[in-house]
Amino acid sequence: MSSAVTTQVPVLENYVNGAWRRPTTTEYSDVKNPATAELLARVPLSNAADVDAAVQAAADAFPAWRRTPPGERVRRGIENVEVACGIPMMMQGYNLEDVTPGVDETLIRQPLGVVAAITPFNFPAMIQFWFLPYAIACGNTIVLKPSERVPLTMHRALELIEKTGLPKGVVNLVNGGREVVDALCDHPQVRAISFVGSTPVAKHVYMRSAASGKRMQCQGGAKNHVIVLPDADMDLAKQIISDSAFGCAGQRCLAVSVAVTIGEAQKTFRDAIAAAASSIRVGNGLDTGVQMGPVITRESKQRVESLIGAGVSEGAKAIVDGRNTKISGYEAGNFVAPTILDGLPSSSQLAHTEIFGPVLSLIHANSIDEAMDFIRRSPYGNQASLFTTSGAAARRFRYEAPAGNIGINIGVAAPMAYFPFSGWKDSFFGILHGQGRDAVEFYTESKIVIERWSRQETRKF
Ligand code: NAD
Repeated sequence: MSSAVTTQVPVLENYVNGAWRRPTTTEYSDVKNPATAELLARVPLSNAADVDAAVQAAADAFPAWRRTPPGERVRRGIENVEVACGIPMMMQGYNLEDVTPGVDETLIRQPLGVVAAITPFNFPAMIQFWFLPYAIACGNTIVLKPSERVPLTMHRALELIEKTGLPKGVVNLVNGGREVVDALCDHPQVRAISFVGSTPVAKHVYMRSAASGKRMQCQGGAKNHVIVLPDADMDLAKQIISDSAFGCAGQRCLAVSVAVTIGEAQKTFRDAIAAAASSIRVGNGLDTGVQMGPVITRESKQRVESLIGAGVSEGAKAIVDGRNTKISGYEAGNFVAPTILDGLPSSSQLAHTEIFGPVLSLIHANSIDEAMDFIRRSPYGNQASLFTTSGAAARRFRYEAPAGNIGINIGVAAPMAYFPFSGWKDSFFGILHGQGRDAVEFYTESKIVIERWSRQETRKF
């Protein structure tokens, strides 16, 4: 790691204009291993002057970068990078000759300038890569702001990006928290912001950036529902829904949080999922055989456990209870084992509250209409899934479910890189989403050129 080292833990720096630089801030925060509480690094909480240095570097790099041909701008790597390698095709405009005799009209796409990406703690590499490859392949320069709780992954990514020989200032990274976010929202040279995080912060970033006329795509929080019909393949449903609810310790925006069972599925699914949840091996994710790790911080563990308690007070029964989990050898870890809250009233507050932990609530409904009504009342619209063997039920669900990512017999309906990552209601603010063609439109301005060259041809008609 290229950052300076004091008191034996790395002290991270910002990456600005092609070099690692110590920010001017004197405020730092601890980065800890959630399984052991070991101090891994200290991350700077940069200030507005540090943001300005990065934006200035990106602005200085922009004129030359936009003139670099798209074929030279693309870099290979993971899936989003591969899709972004198609920019020389995807960024093409279109044209029509003779819109009126002798007059031709063309649409061309041009980069915006300096853009920024602000991301959450979960998936510390992947979410930055929803934005970074498309932004720079379209000819923009970028300032990245990873979560201050997981700064090490993008630090490593920047060390690798540095080796590709990208021109200085094209990719910059500023570590920090809300002060960096607000400075990016306010900065007059930042033309667009891609944000992913909780709904209150997504709304804040959306509104604050609108004040300076920025283009925005803000992905927010989620509360994802799955409906299990009695005709579902129950073995498949149990396994896939268990993986969705408890994989990543429930800390992903597409994790199933509420399963609504219809008819006799209430009993068959409840028994099957309870057995699956109880069999998951919890521990340090780096140990062999461990299937589920800790939640990110001590505060997060306390919050998840208190929400389980709230569900129980609202009438649910914790038929699998992961509170107060202790893992031998990792007593300081933030572990919450898989939890199932059976019979959560659909009118309860918890039924519409994001938990972001390994907790699955079970709600029973008498019909698919009742289940759909419940989903419609959710403030979120990130994902909704259905487990069934009926084509008619699946078609109706796809047609009516009010969410941006729909799964039919799928637990985590995560779009491939060549489709946009959708999201509705309080799960997304903006119009153009991340990934795929939406990303190209988001990161470019369209320009219309209307040309007349032949006076003679015009006269002819
Ligand atoms: P968060 O909202 O706390 O943080 C996200 C980013 O905003 C971080 O970079 C953080 O530094 C910054 N931030 C935090 N508080 C701020 C404030 N008051 N003012 C300005 N900036 C602030 O989110 P998190 O806890 O890191 O991540 C979990 C959340 O992200 C969950 O709600 C989850 O559903 C959501 N998420 C959504 C998606 C999606 O695609 N919709 C994907 C992943 C995560």
